[in-house]
Amino acid sequence: MLALREIFYSIQGEGTWTGTPAVFVRLAGCNLACDFCDTDYSIKFFASVTDVVERVRALGADCPMVILTGGEPLAQSKTIALVDALCADGRRVHIESNGTIFTELPEDVWLCVSPKERVDPRMARRANEVKLIVDRRVPEEHLALFEDAHTVFLQPEGNAPANVAIALDYAMAHPQRFRLSLQTHKFIGVP
Ligand code: SF4
Repeated sequence: MLALREIFYSIQGEGTWTGTPAVFVRLAGCNLACDFCDTDYSIKFFASVTDVVERVRALGADCPMVILTGGEPLAQSKTIALVDALCADGRRVHIESNGTIFTELPEDVWLCVSPKERVDPRMARRANEVKLIVDRRVPEEHLALFEDAHTVFLQPEGNAPANVAIALDYAMAHPQRFRLSLQTHKFIGVP
């Protein structure tokens, strides 16, 4: 069984795929405890892999994109079975991870790593996208394992104006590598 917080249909508000409709599957639990974390990832219900695939179908119909998020979605042993089942159902699976838990993923799974206090180097290499949370400063030390070729989205914590200003200044000072990523879904009041 999988421990879950919520499943809902919305749009991706952040990063490369901003504006793309997606079903979000928020798995419960996390292996880190970041002091700025504002996500409720406590357990709300349990469901089998088959049940989750069916709920994704019911909510998203033919929506191709499914985003597994958390908490830390790769902290549960059944997550990879869910990835496989969603792929078999024709979904394009995205995973939003802190990158600490090494997991072999199918090649066509999009992996967004948001590095915090540590990252597994294999997950750093596997990342399709890097999202760095800016909370009063740009924690560039978290990028040590990522190649220069990685585009890094700077995401101001809570869209707070002071954090936006820091991220914006930093992106403009380092335009080859950094981009500003705002939580656009919050501007329009969707989850
Ligand atoms: S890794 Fe993400 S979900 Fe986990 S505690 Fe940190 S900010 Fe929260």
